[in-house]
Amino acid sequence: MIPASMSNIRQGLVVRTDAKVCHVEVDGRVQHAVPRGILFDGEQRNPVAVGDQVEIDLTSVPASLDRVLPRKNWLSRIANSHDPREQVLAANVDQLFAVASVANPKFSSNRTDRIFAACMWQRIPTTLILNKIDLGDPDDLAAIRATYEAMPIEVLETCASDGRGIEAVRERMAGRTTIFYGASGAGKSSLLNGLQPSLKLKVGKISRYWDQGKHTTSFSQIHTLAFDARVIDTPGIRVFRPFGVPIGNLRDLFPEIVRYQVKCRFNGCSHDHEPECAVFDAVDRGDIAASRYASYVEMLDEVRTAKVSDEEDDAAE
Ligand code: GDP
Ligand code: ZN
Repeated sequence: MIPASMSNIRQGLVVRTDAKVCHVEVDGRVQHAVPRGILFDGEQRNPVAVGDQVEIDLTSVPASLDRVLPRKNWLSRIANSHDPREQVLAANVDQLFAVASVANPKFSSNRTDRIFAACMWQRIPTTLILNKIDLGDPDDLAAIRATYEAMPIEVLETCASDGRGIEAVRERMAGRTTIFYGASGAGKSSLLNGLQPSLKLKVGKISRYWDQGKHTTSFSQIHTLAFDARVIDTPGIRVFRPFGVPIGNLRDLFPEIVRYQVKCRFNGCSHDHEPECAVFDAVDRGDIAASRYASYVEMLDEVRTAKVSDEEDDAAE
């Protein structure tokens, strides 16, 4: 047996994945490594994701990525409308921050509810970061806050332009690995620059390199911040379809629905057409936000009919 100190095998953290090569941090240095072909024989579209702990063999240049160590958790979605396989966006994370702007672009409940459902499925804790509070109408802001606090999910308000709320974001990120997820233009890069100016991320959706028509697969990247935090910046994902959720489990990913559904007449009530549906009644009374219910029904329809719209796919694909 070769002693560990003489072997060329090292363990490291995947900090970025490109089409063919992974960037792996080993002892503070980033090495390029190419995943072995055999890793692609599994069912996932991408066998290696940002956040993975991997073994690389430095005998060749570039190094060979031989093994992905077991994951604590991962966030995945259906790759796209032409490819129903699982696309893993990040692995081994502590939490996800859904970054949304209250205006410009305007808040999307559908986008927010989809990612929260996916995180519920993968048991990833979530927080809603409502950015651009300088541009939003205070009544809109209060309504969004009430909807998500009812889940319950913590809601933090920020203004990346003047720094309001950034301290609270920093506190919750310290010592953890956090995914930043949100629409292109919501302010993720601006917030990250506010958290750590030395990152100097490009701000403004046009200048971001993955928007410049390079037809690579979308990739995520890990940044290590000074306050013992790691952040995974995800690219502009247009539509997030959670992967592998059986149709009967979709309703369990909406905590407000779970609270009321015990009173439905039918045990397996899907809450969209059955009589004496306690969930529908709760929506009617305003006890469940109509926007949350609408997101549920849309996702349910999608799973039922496997219906997808091409326009909704990511530009990169
Ligand atoms: P990303 O695509 O999510 O990374 O968004 P960016 O950080 O690139 O920001 C998109 C645009 O929104 C840029 O022009 C920013 O200057 C602007 N922006 C970001 N945060 C705020 C904010 O809190 N208030 C205002 N008014 N503009 C913001
Ligand atoms: Zn029901």
